[in-house]
Amino acid sequence: MKIAFYDTKPYDKIWFEPEANKKGFDITFIEGKLNENTAVLAKDHEAVCIFVNDDASKTVISKLKEYGVKAILLRCAGFNNVDLKQANKDEIVVMRVPSYSPSSVAEYTMGLILAINRHIHRAYVRTRDFNFSINGLMGFDLNSKVAGVIGTGKIGQEMIRILKGFNMKIYAFDPFPIPIEEVEYVDLDTLLNKADIITLHCPLTKDTKHIIDKHTISKMKEGVLLVNTSRGALVDTQALLEGLSSKKLGGVGLDVYEEEDDFFFEDMSNTNISDDDLVRLTSYRNVIITSHQAFFTKEAMSAIAKDTLDNAEAFFMGGDLKNLIK
Ligand code: NAD
Repeated sequence: MKIAFYDTKPYDKIWFEPEANKKGFDITFIEGKLNENTAVLAKDHEAVCIFVNDDASKTVISKLKEYGVKAILLRCAGFNNVDLKQANKDEIVVMRVPSYSPSSVAEYTMGLILAINRHIHRAYVRTRDFNFSINGLMGFDLNSKVAGVIGTGKIGQEMIRILKGFNMKIYAFDPFPIPIEEVEYVDLDTLLNKADIITLHCPLTKDTKHIIDKHTISKMKEGVLLVNTSRGALVDTQALLEGLSSKKLGGVGLDVYEEEDDFFFEDMSNTNISDDDLVRLTSYRNVIITSHQAFFTKEAMSAIAKDTLDNAEAFFMGGDLKNLIK
Protein backbone atom coordinates (compact mmCIF):
# COMPACT_ATOMS: atom_id res chain seq x y z
CA MET A 1 0.00 0.00 0.00
CA LYS A 2 1.30 3.44 -0.94
CA ILE A 3 0.94 6.40 1.43
CA ALA A 4 1.64 10.03 0.46
CA PHE A 5 3.05 11.58 3.62
CA TYR A 6 2.68 15.39 3.66
CA ASP A 7 4.55 18.05 5.65
CA THR A 8 7.44 15.68 6.36
CA LYS A 9 10.15 16.70 8.80
CA PRO A 10 13.33 14.68 9.48
CA TYR A 11 11.93 13.41 12.81
CA ASP A 12 8.83 12.02 11.05
CA LYS A 13 11.00 9.79 8.84
CA ILE A 14 12.92 8.49 11.86
CA TRP A 15 9.73 7.24 13.53
CA PHE A 16 7.58 6.28 10.55
CA GLU A 17 10.08 4.53 8.29
CA PRO A 18 10.81 1.53 10.56
CA GLU A 19 7.08 1.07 11.35
CA ALA A 20 6.20 1.21 7.63
CA ASN A 21 8.94 -1.31 6.78
CA LYS A 22 7.59 -3.70 9.42
CA LYS A 23 4.13 -3.57 7.82
CA GLY A 24 5.37 -3.53 4.22
CA PHE A 25 3.91 -0.08 3.46
CA ASP A 26 5.52 2.17 0.88
CA ILE A 27 5.66 5.80 2.04
CA THR A 28 6.36 8.77 -0.25
CA PHE A 29 7.68 11.53 2.00
CA ILE A 30 6.66 14.99 0.73
CA GLU A 31 8.04 18.15 2.33
CA GLY A 32 5.16 20.44 1.36
CA LYS A 33 1.84 20.64 3.14
CA LEU A 34 -1.31 19.20 1.64
CA ASN A 35 -3.33 21.87 -0.17
CA GLU A 36 -5.06 22.44 -3.50
CA ASN A 37 -1.73 22.65 -5.35
CA THR A 38 -0.02 19.67 -3.76
CA ALA A 39 -2.97 17.23 -3.73
CA VAL A 40 -1.81 15.98 -7.15
CA LEU A 41 1.27 14.43 -5.50
CA ALA A 42 -1.08 11.87 -3.92
CA LYS A 43 -1.87 10.40 -7.36
CA ASP A 44 -1.38 6.60 -7.33
CA HIS A 45 -1.37 6.49 -3.53
CA GLU A 46 -4.15 4.73 -1.63
CA ALA A 47 -3.80 6.97 1.43
CA VAL A 48 -2.48 10.34 2.53
CA CYS A 49 -0.94 10.94 5.93
CA ILE A 50 -1.37 14.50 7.22
CA PHE A 51 -0.62 16.66 10.27
CA VAL A 52 -2.20 19.63 12.07
CA ASN A 53 -1.55 22.33 9.47
CA ASP A 54 -2.32 20.38 6.30
CA ASP A 55 -5.42 21.53 4.47
CA ALA A 56 -8.04 18.83 3.94
CA SER A 57 -10.86 21.19 3.02
CA LYS A 58 -13.71 20.43 0.62
CA THR A 59 -11.88 21.13 -2.66
CA VAL A 60 -8.72 19.34 -1.55
CA ILE A 61 -10.70 16.24 -0.56
CA SER A 62 -12.51 16.20 -3.92
CA LYS A 63 -9.11 16.28 -5.64
CA LEU A 64 -7.83 13.43 -3.47
CA LYS A 65 -10.89 11.41 -4.47
CA GLU A 66 -10.15 12.13 -8.15
CA TYR A 67 -6.57 10.85 -7.65
CA GLY A 68 -7.81 7.59 -6.12
CA VAL A 69 -7.10 8.23 -2.43
CA LYS A 70 -9.25 6.09 -0.13
CA ALA A 71 -8.05 7.09 3.32
CA ILE A 72 -6.84 10.16 5.19
CA LEU A 73 -4.56 9.17 8.05
CA LEU A 74 -4.21 11.96 10.57
CA ARG A 75 -1.03 11.65 12.60
CA CYS A 76 -2.55 13.76 15.38
CA ALA A 77 -5.63 13.89 17.62
CA GLY A 78 -7.35 17.11 16.43
CA PHE A 79 -9.22 16.99 13.11
CA ASN A 80 -10.48 20.57 12.72
CA ASN A 81 -8.53 20.83 9.41
CA VAL A 82 -10.57 18.07 7.70
CA ASP A 83 -13.94 18.59 6.02
CA LEU A 84 -15.58 15.41 7.32
CA LYS A 85 -18.82 16.02 5.42
CA GLN A 86 -16.98 16.05 2.11
CA ALA A 87 -14.86 13.03 3.09
CA ASN A 88 -18.02 11.03 3.88
CA LYS A 89 -19.59 12.16 0.62
CA ASP A 90 -16.50 11.12 -1.35
CA GLU A 91 -16.28 7.86 0.63
CA ILE A 92 -12.82 8.67 1.92
CA VAL A 93 -12.20 7.19 5.33
CA VAL A 94 -10.67 9.52 7.95
CA MET A 95 -8.76 8.11 10.91
CA ARG A 96 -6.78 9.78 13.67
CA VAL A 97 -4.63 9.01 16.67
CA PRO A 98 -7.00 10.01 19.49
CA SER A 99 -4.56 9.53 22.32
CA TYR A 100 -0.83 9.08 21.98
CA SER A 101 0.57 10.64 25.12
CA PRO A 102 -1.66 13.04 27.06
CA SER A 103 1.25 13.51 29.50
CA SER A 104 3.44 14.95 26.73
CA VAL A 105 1.06 17.91 26.28
CA ALA A 106 0.14 18.31 29.95
CA GLU A 107 3.76 18.25 31.15
CA TYR A 108 4.70 20.83 28.52
CA THR A 109 1.77 23.02 29.56
CA MET A 110 3.03 22.96 33.15
CA GLY A 111 6.44 23.98 31.81
CA LEU A 112 4.89 27.01 30.12
CA ILE A 113 2.95 27.95 33.28
CA LEU A 114 6.09 27.81 35.41
CA ALA A 115 8.18 29.67 32.85
CA ILE A 116 5.73 32.57 32.41
CA ASN A 117 4.96 32.87 36.09
CA ARG A 118 8.60 32.89 37.20
CA HIS A 119 10.01 34.58 34.06
CA ILE A 120 12.46 31.75 33.46
CA HIS A 121 12.79 32.65 29.76
CA ARG A 122 13.91 36.16 30.70
CA ALA A 123 16.28 34.98 33.42
CA TYR A 124 17.93 32.63 30.90
CA VAL A 125 18.59 35.51 28.51
CA ARG A 126 19.81 37.82 31.30
CA THR A 127 22.38 35.47 32.79
CA ARG A 128 23.75 34.60 29.34
CA ASP A 129 24.62 38.31 29.17
CA PHE A 130 26.01 38.17 32.75
CA ASN A 131 23.08 40.28 33.95
CA PHE A 132 22.42 38.75 37.36
CA SER A 133 19.71 41.22 38.42
CA ILE A 134 16.36 39.71 39.43
CA ASN A 135 14.42 42.97 39.19
CA GLY A 136 11.10 42.44 37.42
CA LEU A 137 11.25 38.64 37.64
CA MET A 138 8.89 38.17 40.60
CA GLY A 139 6.13 35.56 40.22
CA PHE A 140 3.53 34.13 42.61
CA ASP A 141 3.24 30.84 44.52
CA LEU A 142 1.00 28.32 42.77
CA ASN A 143 0.37 26.61 46.10
CA SER A 144 -3.31 27.16 47.14
CA LYS A 145 -4.09 29.28 44.06
CA VAL A 146 -6.92 28.47 41.63
CA ALA A 147 -6.31 26.75 38.30
CA GLY A 148 -9.11 26.87 35.72
CA VAL A 149 -9.07 23.93 33.32
CA ILE A 150 -11.25 24.28 30.22
CA GLY A 151 -11.81 20.80 28.76
CA THR A 152 -11.34 17.77 30.97
CA GLY A 153 -10.68 15.07 28.38
CA LYS A 154 -7.51 13.01 28.27
CA ILE A 155 -5.07 15.94 28.35
CA GLY A 156 -7.19 18.03 30.73
CA GLN A 157 -7.28 15.14 33.24
CA GLU A 158 -3.52 14.70 33.03
CA MET A 159 -3.14 18.45 33.54
CA ILE A 160 -5.34 18.27 36.63
CA ARG A 161 -3.19 15.46 38.06
CA ILE A 162 -0.10 17.66 37.66
CA LEU A 163 -1.76 20.82 39.03
CA LYS A 164 -2.89 18.89 42.11
CA GLY A 165 0.79 18.13 42.75
CA PHE A 166 1.26 21.89 43.15
CA ASN A 167 -1.60 21.91 45.68
CA MET A 168 -3.75 24.11 43.47
CA LYS A 169 -7.52 24.30 43.79
CA ILE A 170 -9.02 23.13 40.51
CA TYR A 171 -12.07 24.62 38.81
CA ALA A 172 -13.07 22.93 35.59
CA PHE A 173 -15.45 23.67 32.73
CA ASP A 174 -16.60 21.00 30.27
CA PRO A 175 -20.06 20.38 28.77
CA PHE A 176 -19.50 16.69 29.55
CA PRO A 177 -18.27 16.63 33.13
CA ILE A 178 -16.94 13.43 34.66
CA PRO A 179 -16.28 12.75 38.33
CA ILE A 180 -12.71 13.73 39.19
CA GLU A 181 -11.56 13.84 42.79
CA GLU A 182 -10.95 17.33 44.22
CA VAL A 183 -12.17 19.03 41.04
CA GLU A 184 -15.11 21.41 41.10
CA TYR A 185 -17.02 21.80 37.83
CA VAL A 186 -18.30 25.36 37.51
CA ASP A 187 -19.82 27.44 34.74
CA LEU A 188 -17.39 29.22 32.44
CA ASP A 189 -17.99 32.66 34.01
CA THR A 190 -17.15 31.39 37.50
CA LEU A 191 -13.99 29.74 36.24
CA LEU A 192 -12.90 32.91 34.45
CA ASN A 193 -13.69 34.98 37.50
CA LYS A 194 -11.85 32.89 40.05
CA ALA A 195 -8.84 31.38 38.29
CA ASP A 196 -5.26 32.61 38.77
CA ILE A 197 -4.17 30.50 35.83
CA ILE A 198 -6.36 29.30 32.94
CA THR A 199 -5.40 26.45 30.67
CA LEU A 200 -7.25 25.34 27.51
CA HIS A 201 -7.70 21.65 26.70
CA CYS A 202 -10.86 21.55 24.58
CA PRO A 203 -10.91 20.78 20.86
CA LEU A 204 -11.45 23.46 18.22
CA THR A 205 -15.06 23.30 17.03
CA LYS A 206 -17.54 25.92 15.86
CA ASP A 207 -18.65 26.24 19.52
CA THR A 208 -15.17 26.69 20.94
CA LYS A 209 -13.75 29.03 18.29
CA HIS A 210 -12.67 32.20 20.14
CA ILE A 211 -13.88 30.81 23.48
CA ILE A 212 -11.32 33.30 24.74
CA ASP A 213 -12.37 36.67 23.34
CA LYS A 214 -12.76 40.20 24.69
CA HIS A 215 -15.90 39.26 26.66
CA THR A 216 -14.37 36.24 28.35
CA ILE A 217 -11.10 38.09 28.99
CA SER A 218 -13.06 40.93 30.65
CA LYS A 219 -14.38 38.39 33.18
CA MET A 220 -10.91 37.19 34.17
CA LYS A 221 -8.93 38.21 37.23
CA GLU A 222 -6.43 41.03 36.84
CA GLY A 223 -3.00 39.51 36.17
CA VAL A 224 -4.27 36.03 35.25
CA LEU A 225 -1.93 33.66 33.39
CA LEU A 226 -3.44 32.14 30.24
CA VAL A 227 -2.00 29.09 28.51
CA ASN A 228 -3.13 27.57 25.22
CA THR A 229 -1.59 24.28 24.13
CA SER A 230 -4.75 23.12 22.36
CA ARG A 231 -5.60 24.91 19.10
CA GLY A 232 -4.81 28.50 18.13
CA ALA A 233 -8.28 29.60 17.11
CA LEU A 234 -9.65 28.97 20.62
CA VAL A 235 -8.20 32.40 21.33
CA ASP A 236 -9.08 35.62 19.51
CA THR A 237 -5.66 37.16 18.88
CA GLN A 238 -6.93 40.76 18.81
CA ALA A 239 -8.58 40.30 22.21
CA LEU A 240 -5.39 38.69 23.52
CA LEU A 241 -3.31 41.66 22.39
CA GLU A 242 -5.77 44.06 24.04
CA GLY A 243 -5.70 41.99 27.23
CA LEU A 244 -1.92 42.16 27.27
CA SER A 245 -1.79 45.84 26.50
CA SER A 246 -4.30 46.66 29.28
CA LYS A 247 -2.31 44.36 31.67
CA LYS A 248 -5.46 42.34 32.39
CA LEU A 249 -3.41 39.33 31.36
CA GLY A 250 -0.34 38.90 33.52
CA GLY A 251 1.28 36.39 31.22
CA VAL A 252 0.47 34.23 28.23
CA GLY A 253 1.90 30.92 27.06
CA LEU A 254 1.01 29.81 23.55
CA ASP A 255 2.08 26.58 21.90
CA VAL A 256 -0.50 27.19 19.20
CA TYR A 257 -1.52 30.32 17.31
CA GLU A 258 -4.57 31.17 15.25
CA GLU A 259 -2.55 31.83 12.08
CA GLU A 260 0.22 29.33 12.75
CA ASP A 261 -0.15 27.46 9.43
CA ASP A 262 2.14 29.85 7.55
CA PHE A 263 4.91 29.86 10.14
CA PHE A 264 5.03 27.00 12.62
CA PHE A 265 7.41 24.08 12.06
CA GLU A 266 9.47 26.17 9.59
CA ASP A 267 12.73 28.09 10.01
CA MET A 268 11.66 31.65 9.20
CA SER A 269 14.69 33.29 10.82
CA ASN A 270 15.88 34.76 7.51
CA THR A 271 12.48 36.19 6.64
CA ASN A 272 10.55 39.30 7.60
CA ILE A 273 7.45 37.96 9.34
CA SER A 274 4.38 39.24 7.51
CA ASP A 275 2.01 38.70 10.44
CA ASP A 276 2.02 41.88 12.53
CA ASP A 277 0.01 40.25 15.34
CA LEU A 278 2.55 37.48 15.71
CA VAL A 279 5.38 40.04 15.76
CA ARG A 280 3.52 42.09 18.39
CA LEU A 281 2.84 39.02 20.52
CA THR A 282 6.48 37.93 20.47
CA SER A 283 7.51 41.44 21.55
CA TYR A 284 5.73 41.10 24.92
CA ARG A 285 8.16 39.95 27.57
CA ASN A 286 5.39 38.17 29.47
CA VAL A 287 4.44 36.06 26.45
CA ILE A 288 6.08 32.80 25.45
CA ILE A 289 5.25 31.42 22.03
CA THR A 290 6.44 27.99 20.99
CA SER A 291 5.88 26.25 17.70
CA HIS A 292 3.28 23.56 18.44
CA GLN A 293 5.75 21.29 20.19
CA ALA A 294 3.79 20.21 23.27
CA PHE A 295 3.29 16.71 21.82
CA PHE A 296 6.94 16.30 20.86
CA THR A 297 8.36 13.53 23.04
CA LYS A 298 9.91 10.17 22.10
CA GLU A 299 6.97 8.36 23.64
CA ALA A 300 4.43 10.40 21.71
CA MET A 301 6.25 10.09 18.36
CA SER A 302 6.61 6.36 18.77
CA ALA A 303 2.90 5.96 19.61
CA ILE A 304 1.84 8.30 16.76
CA ALA A 305 3.82 6.33 14.15
CA LYS A 306 2.56 2.98 15.40
CA ASP A 307 -1.10 3.97 15.76
CA THR A 308 -1.26 5.86 12.43
CA LEU A 309 0.02 2.83 10.53
CA ASP A 310 -2.13 0.45 12.60
CA ASN A 311 -5.09 2.55 11.40
CA ALA A 312 -3.93 2.11 7.79
CA GLU A 313 -3.50 -1.61 8.30
CA ALA A 314 -6.96 -1.96 9.84
CA PHE A 315 -8.56 -0.18 6.89
CA PHE A 316 -6.69 -1.89 4.09
CA MET A 317 -6.51 -5.37 5.64
CA GLY A 318 -10.06 -5.31 7.02
CA GLY A 319 -9.51 -4.90 10.77
CA ASP A 320 -11.29 -2.93 13.50
CA LEU A 321 -11.58 0.76 12.54
CA LYS A 322 -11.54 1.97 16.13
CA ASN A 323 -10.07 5.38 15.28
CA LEU A 324 -12.47 6.27 12.50
CA ILE A 325 -13.94 9.81 12.57
CA LYS A 326 -17.26 10.53 10.93
P1 NAD B 1 -10.35 14.84 24.40
O1 NAD B 1 -11.30 14.64 23.28
O2 NAD B 1 -9.94 13.69 25.24
O3 NAD B 1 -10.91 15.98 25.39
C1 NAD B 1 -11.50 17.17 24.96
C2 NAD B 1 -12.45 17.62 26.05
O4 NAD B 1 -12.93 18.92 25.68
C3 NAD B 1 -13.68 16.71 26.20
O5 NAD B 1 -13.85 16.34 27.55
C4 NAD B 1 -14.84 17.56 25.71
O6 NAD B 1 -16.06 17.30 26.37
C5 NAD B 1 -14.31 18.96 26.05
N1 NAD B 1 -15.02 20.04 25.37
C6 NAD B 1 -15.71 19.99 24.20
N2 NAD B 1 -16.28 21.19 23.98
C7 NAD B 1 -15.97 21.99 25.03
C8 NAD B 1 -16.31 23.32 25.39
N3 NAD B 1 -17.09 24.09 24.61
N4 NAD B 1 -15.80 23.82 26.54
C9 NAD B 1 -15.04 23.05 27.35
N5 NAD B 1 -14.70 21.77 27.07
C10 NAD B 1 -15.16 21.25 25.93
O7 NAD B 1 -9.07 15.53 23.73
P2 NAD B 1 -7.60 15.58 24.31
O8 NAD B 1 -6.83 14.39 23.87
O9 NAD B 1 -7.65 15.92 25.76
O10 NAD B 1 -7.00 16.82 23.48
C11 NAD B 1 -7.52 18.12 23.63
C12 NAD B 1 -6.99 19.01 22.52
O11 NAD B 1 -5.59 19.19 22.67
C13 NAD B 1 -7.12 18.41 21.10
O12 NAD B 1 -8.39 18.66 20.56
C14 NAD B 1 -6.04 19.14 20.35
O13 NAD B 1 -6.61 20.30 19.79
C15 NAD B 1 -5.03 19.56 21.42
N6 NAD B 1 -3.71 18.93 21.27
C16 NAD B 1 -2.62 19.72 21.17
C17 NAD B 1 -1.35 19.15 21.04
C18 NAD B 1 -0.08 20.00 20.95
O14 NAD B 1 0.98 19.47 20.60
N7 NAD B 1 -0.11 21.28 21.27
C19 NAD B 1 -1.22 17.77 21.01
C20 NAD B 1 -2.38 16.99 21.14
C21 NAD B 1 -3.61 17.57 21.27
